[in-house]
Amino acid sequence: MSDLYNQSELSRQLLKWYDCAKRDLPWRTPPKSPRATRPDPYHVLVSELMLQQTQVATVIPYFQRFLQAFPTMDKLAQADPQQVLRLWQGLGYYRRANNLQAAARAIVAEHNGKIPDDLETLLKLPGIGRYTAGAIASIAFDRRVPILEGNVARVLCRLDAVESDPQEKTTLAKLWLRAEQILPSKRVGDFNSALMELGATVCMPHHPACLACPLQKMCRALAQNLQDRIPPPRRAKPVPMHHRQVLCIHRGNRWLIEQRPTKGRWAGMWQFVTVEGNATQPIPGKQIGQIKHALTHRLYQFDVWLIVAGKTFPVPINGSPRKWVTLAELDQYPLPRPHQRVAAMLAERHRANG
Ligand code: SF4
Repeated sequence: MSDLYNQSELSRQLLKWYDCAKRDLPWRTPPKSPRATRPDPYHVLVSELMLQQTQVATVIPYFQRFLQAFPTMDKLAQADPQQVLRLWQGLGYYRRANNLQAAARAIVAEHNGKIPDDLETLLKLPGIGRYTAGAIASIAFDRRVPILEGNVARVLCRLDAVESDPQEKTTLAKLWLRAEQILPSKRVGDFNSALMELGATVCMPHHPACLACPLQKMCRALAQNLQDRIPPPRRAKPVPMHHRQVLCIHRGNRWLIEQRPTKGRWAGMWQFVTVEGNATQPIPGKQIGQIKHALTHRLYQFDVWLIVAGKTFPVPINGSPRKWVTLAELDQYPLPRPHQRVAAMLAERHRANG
């Protein structure tokens, strides 16, 4: 990518726009101290983990509840992992919650509770990749390091009229280089935030608002009327369907739940007893519903069964902890989204049956 525009003019225009147009987001507020001008590094860490694959509007209430429960790094490091998952419930991608707490524990144990301010040390923390490390170093500490995520990649591709897939390895490497080349010498954190903000609010995937864009005079895609074709649409991959049998086994008003393994999807969360695959033998109960749940790369179909405890049925023993709980007590357990829906289905049946 050759020099296509005056880089100091780009940062000047972008920062001028950002100072007027930036959204008032809770993790951007500096701590209440007369000398503080930058956001609290702990808030940046929490928000960056939450914002991965998730919209700002969805994250805001989760961020606020999380900070209320764990106002400091120490509190998060010492917290019960089940409470951390419980507060993450509904945000999805639960591995982020485990990673966040693992990072907090490492920061407390190895860095005296202070988030490191350099890229190399940040990258050694559990679950912190190149993007998150760059975001923390630049936004919280104003270090001169680049960031690249979906929004920034789209803006850079359009500015330079790069028509290849930004997720393709060679293009990705060039974009990281570009993101570094265009960094200003001052206000790096604001500059990186501004690039993301522009991608999220102006240079959107569909119908970018070029007339409102502070970079329109230097945008090669706009000059060539390519903005709607960059980046190119990705070829949709077939999404496999996975079947699960959810066995809602009850003894009076108590329901049998089990904890998922500590690794893999929904790690450490709780669920109604669940068997993988289609039912290969008659289930001694009544099917009360079916739930479909879509993730990015797979679809799930959950057949939901109501079973009275004591019926002869070989529930597989997977060694996971199991408990008998009332529906009201389920609130204390982190449940994956499909099992929250099963719980709602059971509560609705209970109400309907008086
Ligand atoms: Fe994006 Fe349009 Fe701005 Fe170019 S002019 S960066 S396509 S919003």
